[in-house]
Amino acid sequence: MTTRDDCLALDRADELAHFKQEFALPAGIVYLDGNSLGARPKAALQRARQVVEQEWGEDLIRSWNKAGWFELPGRLGDKLAPLIGAQPGEVVVTDTTSVNLFKALAAALRMQAENPATAQRRVIVSERSNFPTDVYIAQGLAQWLDSGYTLRLVDAPEELPQAIDASVAAVMLTHVNYRSGRLLDMPGLTAHAHAQGALIVWDLAHSAGALPVELEQANADFAVGCTYKYLNGGPGAPAFIWVPKRHQARFGHPLSGWWGHANPFAMSSEFAPHPGIARALCGTQPITSLAMVEVGLDMYARTDMAALRRKSLVMTDLFIGLVEERCAGQPLTLDTPREHGLRGSHVSFTHPQGYAVMQALIGRGVIGDYREPGIMRFGFTPLYLSYADVWDAVDTLADILQRQAYDAGATRSAVT
Ligand SMILES: *Cc1c(COP(=O)(O)O)cnc(C)c1O
Repeated sequence: MTTRDDCLALDRADELAHFKQEFALPAGIVYLDGNSLGARPKAALQRARQVVEQEWGEDLIRSWNKAGWFELPGRLGDKLAPLIGAQPGEVVVTDTTSVNLFKALAAALRMQAENPATAQRRVIVSERSNFPTDVYIAQGLAQWLDSGYTLRLVDAPEELPQAIDASVAAVMLTHVNYRSGRLLDMPGLTAHAHAQGALIVWDLAHSAGALPVELEQANADFAVGCTYKYLNGGPGAPAFIWVPKRHQARFGHPLSGWWGHANPFAMSSEFAPHPGIARALCGTQPITSLAMVEVGLDMYARTDMAALRRKSLVMTDLFIGLVEERCAGQPLTLDTPREHGLRGSHVSFTHPQGYAVMQALIGRGVIGDYREPGIMRFGFTPLYLSYADVWDAVDTLADILQRQAYDAGATRSAVT
């Protein structure tokens, strides 16, 4: 049986343990929701002061040049690129994941429509269990294009190879499922999509900063993802979009705003796309929020994803093992694959009173979240979690379940 002392011993041997002190975590909190909103790097406060007081307050509009505001989406993209197996000049941090999905999917459909070999294709494939905004964006785009596009949603990842056939224009998949934490086979599914003549868009919302991603090696077509989850960019921080060099010349989308123009300050009345990745931009960026993203990315520059992945897998194994040991006999079902090759960096358990149990956990300082139906979600962020945190979280969960110390009638807040 694993003891708290065993966990403390793991912490003493942890090569990443020193990062925890760089985060402003409140005392008495075990934060298992970094997969939804990353914790605040302490340095973000200083950076925020600098942006607000100096760059905005003192330098005013001169900061677009002087503080490099205008180049920020590309500069941050270049810092993010190594985390997802991309090259400099292929990523911009901008807009939201939803908006970037719209752009990437629109570009993929247009590229297929312009290719005589695929011009007749009208099917978009995704998973029914994908994060709703991904599905909604595809539905919205298909409806607005009004060219007969339909969405083919599979009920299980095992159905994907069969669903991705020669009628498919584009595939849009989330690498790590937001509920189950299941990790899809990016190289395999990308190769299969290409063999069928389809293009593939990967959503890395629960992958970027959580596990090594190799977009270029997988020969993926497009990718998007969040910076406010594992990358600790702050609430609502802008997302990213990846367009590999090989596709940039043909990458076009309907949100052709002035920031995507070849020469925005020419103030031309004709849109001409920027030759490089800046064509994925639309309009003026939220600079104060964007500046926070850099703080999180700079921390990643001092780690390596392989070490983070090793710790993440030990933590998720530890959590699953402890829950099964300490909460045996409780009506809990593990939703997350046990195989390492199929697991992201969060773990989900279903409980008939999942919402009430999660509220009780949060009330006692163990912060995870709840997703329908009945799913309690626990995110493991190797940068700022200790093994003792994992032990303490399970200790609290076991106590709540044993004593049924939760309010089955708890009313739902707007955000669960
Ligand atoms: C978190 C998440 C999003 C969020 O999209 P926003 O546009 O930032 O609201 C999108 N897709 C997936 C798969 C997510 O996990």
